[in-house]
Amino acid sequence: MKFVRYLEIENPVWGWIYEDKVGKVDGDLFSKYRRLEVDTDTSKIQFLPPVKPSKIICFGRNFASHALEHEVEVPEIPLIFLKPPSSIIGNNDQIILPPQTNYVEHEAELAVVIGKKGRWIDPDEAENYIFGFTIANDVTARDLQSLDGQWTRAKGFDTFCPIGPVVETEFDPADALITCKVNNQVRQMASTRDMIFPIEKLMAFCSSIMTLEPGDVILTGTPAGVGVLHDGDIIEIEIEGLGVLKNSVKSFY
Ligand code: MG
Repeated sequence: MKFVRYLEIENPVWGWIYEDKVGKVDGDLFSKYRRLEVDTDTSKIQFLPPVKPSKIICFGRNFASHALEHEVEVPEIPLIFLKPPSSIIGNNDQIILPPQTNYVEHEAELAVVIGKKGRWIDPDEAENYIFGFTIANDVTARDLQSLDGQWTRAKGFDTFCPIGPVVETEFDPADALITCKVNNQVRQMASTRDMIFPIEKLMAFCSSIMTLEPGDVILTGTPAGVGVLHDGDIIEIEIEGLGVLKNSVKSFY
């Protein structure tokens, strides 16, 4: 099932997709809901980011290939950080390059959407806490990341977390290809099977620190091939089974 969020007469609502039509979801997506009839062409809908998390939990250096390109060690325990929900934008929205940085990079990542509240989640039971999966871009001001040491500024600007286009509840994360193209040139290509810490271990780790809430999003790390973004660039991230997340890049000035 593919779930989305969209504007219905200026009000954000949850919806579901069937072929090229959208229907509204009545109720709470994470507990009791009913799928109403699909009645509107997707072309007539103004889509929103398909998530509304209380927090975005991210993992760094979860692909050995990406750690290698930055000449840093692969972590022995998962390297965790947060992005603010205010950094989220949706499919087709613009990434704005802020004036404080000269070096912004894309990071194509698989994102997990949590379906059930959880703390101290057992890795063997992690899949029961997953609602679905989507695509994310962990946009990063690389110059500020090394300058600050802490990553909040480098990772936290508005528009630095494109997510979408849909949340897919039927997706197998074991071996899905992640591809990232900038202006039609392939920059990143790797399988989710190359993650150092698999999703169930990441969920056990972060839920040993903080309570996971329905709707929360976990970014699982990026493979090698990250690169700089410039004004006018078009970035497309595809994950097999999840579609394509497409965003343009615009300078602040
Ligand atoms: Mg990342």
